[in-house]
Amino acid sequence: MDERLIKRLVSTIKCSICGHCYEGNNVKVLGHDDDVWFVSAYCRTCGSHSLVAAVIKEGPLPDFITDLTDDEFDRFSEAEEITADDVLDIHSFLKEFDGDFPSLFSEE
Ligand SMILES: [Zn+2]
Repeated sequence: MDERLIKRLVSTIKCSICGHCYEGNNVKVLGHDDDVWFVSAYCRTCGSHSLVAAVIKEGPLPDFITDLTDDEFDRFSEAEEITADDVLDIHSFLKEFDGDFPSLFSEE
C-alpha cells in the first residue's frame, strides 16, 4: 500500500475538535499491522494531534464498465484530450443551435 494514498485518504477526514480537514503534509504514517494502518495527524487549524487507525484493504480493481463498442473504445483511447477551447466551441455552437438535428446530420 502506498503511503501517499494513506495520507490522501486521511486528509479527507475532519478533525474531531474543530471540524477542519487534515492536510496531507500534516499526516504521518506510523506503521501498519496487515490491513490496519496507524496514522498520526496534526490539525493546523486548532493545533490538536490525533491518532487514526484505519482498516484499508487492497482488493482487485473494479470491472471496467462502459457502453462503448470496441471500435469506439480504441478511437477515444487515442483521441486528443478535450480542452477548454473545445468546451467553448460546443458552448458557442449550442447557443446558436436551433435543434434541427436532421439538417445537422444530413450530408450536403
Ligand atoms: Zn482541528
